[in-house]
Amino acid sequence: MRKDNFNSPDHYAVDKLLSEENILIRNITRDWVKINVSPIIENAVQNDEFPVKFVKGISEIGGFGPFLPEKYGGAEIDLISYGIMMQELERGDSSLRVLSSIQSGLVMKLIFDHASEQQKLKYLIPLSKGDMIGSFGMSEPNHGSDPSSMLTRFTKKGNKYVINGSKLWIGQAPICNVAVFWCKNDHNEFGLFLVDRETKGFETSKIKNKWGFRGSETGELIFNNMELNEESLLFKTKDVGEMLKCLNLGRYAVAWGALGIAMDCYDCALKYASERIQFGKKIASFQLIQKKLVDMITEITKTQILVWRLGVLMNDGSATYDQISMAKRSSVDMSSNVAIKARSILGGMGVTAEYPVMRHILNLEVLKTYQGTEEIHTLITGRSITGISAF
Ligand SMILES: Cc1cc2nc3c(=O)[nH]c(=O)nc-3n(C[C@H](O)[C@H](O)[C@H](O)COP(=O)(O)OP(=O)(O)OC[C@H]3O[C@@H](n4cnc5c(N)ncnc54)[C@H](O)[C@@H]3O)c2cc1C
Repeated sequence: MRKDNFNSPDHYAVDKLLSEENILIRNITRDWVKINVSPIIENAVQNDEFPVKFVKGISEIGGFGPFLPEKYGGAEIDLISYGIMMQELERGDSSLRVLSSIQSGLVMKLIFDHASEQQKLKYLIPLSKGDMIGSFGMSEPNHGSDPSSMLTRFTKKGNKYVINGSKLWIGQAPICNVAVFWCKNDHNEFGLFLVDRETKGFETSKIKNKWGFRGSETGELIFNNMELNEESLLFKTKDVGEMLKCLNLGRYAVAWGALGIAMDCYDCALKYASERIQFGKKIASFQLIQKKLVDMITEITKTQILVWRLGVLMNDGSATYDQISMAKRSSVDMSSNVAIKARSILGGMGVTAEYPVMRHILNLEVLKTYQGTEEIHTLITGRSITGISAF
């Protein structure tokens, strides 16, 4: 069992920008991760297991829909606090952040934004307590980066909708009680639907033996002549941009989460370099090792300021799709570079489960693809600054 002695780097006193509530939420989440997650996560990931007890644990620290009104199980926390929670969860392991942010930023947020009052009361409280698990489906086997070409179809038959198709790479699919997903009709309209696991014609499958996100359940949502009532259609739009906007909160969570990974890797490498002796000296005394540590803390510091500023824009409701996209791409890229440097500072020990770094590196490979690939986010920013779409 690994003892988690994490100390968070803060070279530019970014903590001084945080509110009391931000710090309280950070401390609660960090303590929970240190006590309940770090001692068992390496084993769970090595065994490709999802520790079910994390669901209740996350609900107890308020990690499901914490920004929603209390009436719906939330705590009305601001979005910087939410970001910090994602940072701390992903420092523990990506699987925790995935569980929390899919449930909160996609499933609960979409139900909150688009469902009827009756549906909100039915789903949001159990989701906030972890008594229900939710999945979000946009990607398909043949359409990932280009969801507008999705093949899953909905057609109206009397007062029902009939749905056929499937969604691939869906977090929590094998264990979900409810799923929120997008599909399309013959008039090029995108429909956002809500479905219960028990619904006839709805099945899920599990993707086994992933190398990244191993602590997380991933699978497929399969719809075979599935019939849903009219109220299951939460929202309909012809505008692809309107559909894609629902990813904003998820991408924001990844930007903070990837920072959490970088902070963990840096802390681990700094401690190791300060203890490991080679050539009769601590390796931290070698200039080449110092250069790596300096590069790491410099990039982490820039990202700490970037995501904090993005949090301010999120809180006042002015953050744009493009700004969120830039932060997701930049934070994941930064974190991946930091993690690889940390791995090299740890030498051979860096590839073992004694340290979290190799596990984080494999999770970062997923983060580069998930919630929009690094290439797609490059094109989003390119379009934003030039006014020309290169898609
Ligand atoms: C573990 C995991 C969990 C996931 N969880 C979810 C989830 O819960 N819900 C969900 O809906 N989805 C989920 N995803 C899916 C994820 O969002 C997609 O994998 C991602 O959008 C990329 O789609 P793709 O895998 O089909 O790759 P593709 O779209 O086939 O892309 C393949 C490559 O081509 C590149 N490419 C594509 N188009 C262009 C272009 N125009 N210019 C340059 N390069 C391009 C891509 O960047 C990539 O490098 C998950 C994925 C993984 C791996």
